[in-house]
Amino acid sequence: MTGPTNYPILLSPIDVGATTLRNRVIMGSIHTGLEDRAWNTGRLAAYFAERARGGVALIITGGYAPNRTGWLLPLGAKLTNRIEARRHRRITEAVHREGGKIALQILHAGRYSYQPLSVSASSIKAPINPFRPRRLTSRGVRWQIRNFVRCARLAQSAGYDGVEIMGGEGYFLNQFLAERTNRRRDEWGGSPENRRRIAVEISRKIREAVGENFLISFRLSMADLVDGGQTWDEITTLAQELERVGVDMINTDIGWHESRVPTIVTSVPRAAFADITGKLDKHLDIPVAASNRINMPDVAENILARGDAQLISMARPMLADPFWVRKAEADAAALINTCIACNQACLDHAFAHKTVSCLVNPRAGREVELELLPTRRAKKVAVIGGGPAGLSAALESARRGHTVSLFEARAALGGQFGIARRIPGKEEFAETIRYFTNALAEADVTVRLGHRVTAAELLAAEFDEVVLATGVVPRIPSIPGIDHPSVLSYAELVEEGKPVGDRVAVIGAGGIGVDISEYLTTDSSPTLDLKEWKQEWGVTELEAAPGALTTPVPAPSPREVYLLQRKKGRIGAGLAKTTGWVHRASLAAKGVHQLTEVNYERIDDDGLHITFGEDHERPRTLAVDTIVVCAGQESVRDLVDELTASGTITHVIGGADVAAELDAKRAIEQGTRLAAKI
Ligand code: FAD
Ligand code: NAP
Ligand code: SF4
Repeated sequence: MTGPTNYPILLSPIDVGATTLRNRVIMGSIHTGLEDRAWNTGRLAAYFAERARGGVALIITGGYAPNRTGWLLPLGAKLTNRIEARRHRRITEAVHREGGKIALQILHAGRYSYQPLSVSASSIKAPINPFRPRRLTSRGVRWQIRNFVRCARLAQSAGYDGVEIMGGEGYFLNQFLAERTNRRRDEWGGSPENRRRIAVEISRKIREAVGENFLISFRLSMADLVDGGQTWDEITTLAQELERVGVDMINTDIGWHESRVPTIVTSVPRAAFADITGKLDKHLDIPVAASNRINMPDVAENILARGDAQLISMARPMLADPFWVRKAEADAAALINTCIACNQACLDHAFAHKTVSCLVNPRAGREVELELLPTRRAKKVAVIGGGPAGLSAALESARRGHTVSLFEARAALGGQFGIARRIPGKEEFAETIRYFTNALAEADVTVRLGHRVTAAELLAAEFDEVVLATGVVPRIPSIPGIDHPSVLSYAELVEEGKPVGDRVAVIGAGGIGVDISEYLTTDSSPTLDLKEWKQEWGVTELEAAPGALTTPVPAPSPREVYLLQRKKGRIGAGLAKTTGWVHRASLAAKGVHQLTEVNYERIDDDGLHITFGEDHERPRTLAVDTIVVCAGQESVRDLVDELTASGTITHVIGGADVAAELDAKRAIEQGTRLAAKI
């Protein structure tokens, strides 16, 4: 590190037990899916090594089960024998070569295990899993403890610097800790002391087995955010007990997977739970790590400066930018590719049993396969369109050594992301535009804004290759009266700020229709502060209720909104697994009227005339002032024919290529993959 820094605490070393960390940044555990298959060990080693090279002090692996009952999935990752441990050497050596440290997370899924062998404190089925767990006998509990210890020993033999015991997120140990899932009346249940016995015993026995020079972290839930969750007194007493039996640090986390309060999606305010970590910190001498929705160095430094934690744990931000720490060291936060908390390529992939990657960094998890090597022949490349597809193609082509010109018709970069970032709760999307804008300048890309380029201009400039990333425009459906002055496209509403009435109908309930409904039902100041957010979702003070839950009090909508779709079935059913339920809950909280199986008959001065229900037999007039059209999009391909006819090497990517089911994940990945080949 050279020169002064804006982040003096974040970048200073710290002793955690017998281990010295080079700074305060921990890459938190995220299960990539690569852990599950032996043949992916090389990919996993490359993925972690890149993060270690990027300066992170301590990496925590995805979760490994201590036995088959603890599997996340059938045949999922486990560490139970020496053959498996030997394979891990490749990972630990790769990280150590880059000057990093790495701990293995021991994760027993308990009743979240998606398989019939699952076990738990009591036989109570999780609402998010069809498999009912078997209640462990007291002997069974002791066997589980021995398996945790064996797993830690094997991790030590594989060259890990430590282990993290997963005790939060509603997994196995959390199931013992909370009354919600522990109805036992033996030594492992009933009183708080009995409920925490398994966590304390595991920690104590692991310390005895591994000696002093091996880091033990415990992932502890700060607030379960479920009915029947732990009380604050139980949580602090547990943390103190863990400290007493030899745990070196507490890595905090919030909420169970079944909790109905969002904890990591983009609409959760940054560092929303750091103050809770701060409350725990006061009870302990060992260091505490803050986590959840911390994605930029200034946010992290503030938490440390306030004394709320001594370490910062970030998982997704390390997927988004492996060189996050190096950029913080160079005071170049403006060049950090920020995690926008969309979950689209990380957690949504994990839940769909696909390898985890990142929307803003498609190389994450594909470090071996998607290499961006310097080019041997620099070409003159034109990229048309400054949306996500064009931005990624232009940036990565320039980084490889090509001479790149980017043309954008709008006055600013970002394309449709420029609209998305204005949706309440999606403000983080502006960070992607900020990153690309600065990185393009750093990579010497010539950017021409406010210039709708023509094929003739491109041909005259004699580019070697042209990338058409001209994106999409809103589809205007052919409904009688669609040109009525009350009708707006979503772009006209949000981008141009056209006025809107008190009663609004939204045509189309895909991702954009849902976003627009949230935009319309949120008062003019879109960003919720933390206090309002907690009221909205019913999160209270920890001391006030077990699980920290209270009755939600959402702010009333400033207008009445109807959200309509033609197809049958629940509105928002096609939204992603980890975020869809949050959107559906928000729509319900704001009283959005939702109608399905709608036929749009006509639009006139009386409003929107529809028939709906099965066979479209029920006519109704929605007496609305404004109708916002969110009926999908169409590709902009006006330059394709002329360029290809001229013989120019022309590539078409993003929405210009295929508009259906287009999202920024596909757009950015396509741009990056093309850049790797040009
Ligand atoms: P675009 O973003 O459409 O960009 C194309 C650009 O090309 C435009 O800026 C246009 O001005 C420019 N252009 C066109 N012709 C020319 C020309 N001749 N000369 C110069 N410039 C030209 N996606 C997600 O993945 N997750 C989300 O949560 C999400 N939320 C969204 C919310 C909203 C409200 C909206 C509107 C979109 C959202 N999207 C989301 C979709 C995402 O923004 C798009 O999939 C993505 O922007 C498509 O990228 P693109 O580069 O192909 O096209
Ligand atoms: P979409 O999800 O395909 O939804 C389009 C909607 O319009 C559908 O509800 C469709 O349903 C309706 N529709 C289609 N043609 C119509 C017609 N001719 N007349 C009337 N209605 C019509 O697309 P989108 O909402 O435009 O979103 C675009 C992309 O952005 C999506 O692929 C999505 O992945 C991405 N996005 C993602 C998020 C996110 O949170 N992850 C948020 C916003 C956008 P019916 O035919 O049933 O009416
Ligand atoms: Fe963050 Fe989205 Fe990337 Fe996941 S996919 S790491 S949430 S930016």
